[in-house]
Amino acid sequence: MLFKAFLIKYGEIGIKGKNRYLFEDALMDQIRYALRDTEADFEVTKEQGRIYVEMNGDYDYDEVVDALGRVFGIVGICPVIISEKCRWEDLCRITGDYMEENYPDLNLTFKVFCRRADKHIYKPSMEMAADMGEYLLDRFSQLSVDVHHPQVSLNIEVRERVYIYSIEIPGPGGMPIGTNGRATLLLSGGIDSPVAGYMIAKRGVKIDAVYFHAPPYTSERAKQKVVDLAAIVARYAGPIRLHVINFTDIQLAIYEKCPHDELTIIMRRYMMRIAQSIALEEKSMGLITGESIGQVASQTMQSLLVTNAVCSLPVYRPLIGFDKNDIVDISKEIGAFETSIEPYEDCCTIFVAKHPVTKPNEHHICRSEHHLADVIDQMVETAIKTQEIIDCG
Ligand code: ATP
Ligand code: MG
Repeated sequence: MLFKAFLIKYGEIGIKGKNRYLFEDALMDQIRYALRDTEADFEVTKEQGRIYVEMNGDYDYDEVVDALGRVFGIVGICPVIISEKCRWEDLCRITGDYMEENYPDLNLTFKVFCRRADKHIYKPSMEMAADMGEYLLDRFSQLSVDVHHPQVSLNIEVRERVYIYSIEIPGPGGMPIGTNGRATLLLSGGIDSPVAGYMIAKRGVKIDAVYFHAPPYTSERAKQKVVDLAAIVARYAGPIRLHVINFTDIQLAIYEKCPHDELTIIMRRYMMRIAQSIALEEKSMGLITGESIGQVASQTMQSLLVTNAVCSLPVYRPLIGFDKNDIVDISKEIGAFETSIEPYEDCCTIFVAKHPVTKPNEHHICRSEHHLADVIDQMVETAIKTQEIIDCG
């Protein structure tokens, strides 16, 4: 059956009054963005507080449902058939044909729900539902009615035209991108940070990203992997602006002048400082990382305390209480995992000490950083000035 449209269901909590328009408009924009790369010719419309995606001509059903399934804010996707207003007998026949085609077995329980925005046609909703139920029971003897827990909820809505649907495919939930400000993701080539970006974006936050690379110690291919990951996250989060920062000189300076067991933590502090100044420039309201308590030496509670100390913006760490397995599950679900495990080196792994401190002391770390005093401000400034910007997605 070729469905003519999709009714988009969205969660309504917190979107009363003026916010409702912002929410709906952002959702419609994201739907258009998600469908942009499909072959389909479509139109996104809003009618009496309902959002529809109307399809013109042929399209690939799975591709369209898949794309809509990536739009945050959607809780249900209902494929709909649309009929012009017609005689009651014809509407019954069309509805019966719909049931027959979508449920060939017909051995099921159902309930009819009717709504009329146009009160001039047919009969009151309750009566309409009862009569349609009766018609279907007459036509298909295998059917039975269950008003409490029907297997099929058959909806008939009379508006400018008549909309018939009974199937609801779950959407991802969350809030439409653009309804909750902007944050800056520290995106590495690993498994965790793309998942962290995905999770914050799901709350309606527009994200941009920062990647630190260290050529020639890290390769072009490692950078390309991060661009690919940004594009994967962008399938859900909308276009992502990726700031690529050359971190080589800073890493070499840290390596040369600071105790080796403190390398990672000092490096992480400079990453946070630089990410924060990019965030402030982008009018972003927070940083996002893929950190999770205890995962590695730089993510113990003490390390997080010392890393966090250099930031004045809030740092969102949506994976903080997650086990790796749970993170991997989400990574697979969003299609990032295969890319994340490509074996290209990361700047963190190249300059890593054999025995990094797991309980850094902020006072010690500040003293070590003091060895960089002559050069570091200039290096940070140059790193920011020479950033490369890549638009992903
Ligand atoms: P991931 O899988 O996200 O790389 P990880 O387990 O390797 O995380 P770390 O290397 O300690 O953990 O990094 C912690 C967080 O710091 C990452 O989740 C990411 O947000 C940020 N980060 C690490 N390396 C980089 C980098 N080269 N560029 C940008 N951000 C980075
Ligand atoms: Mg990493």
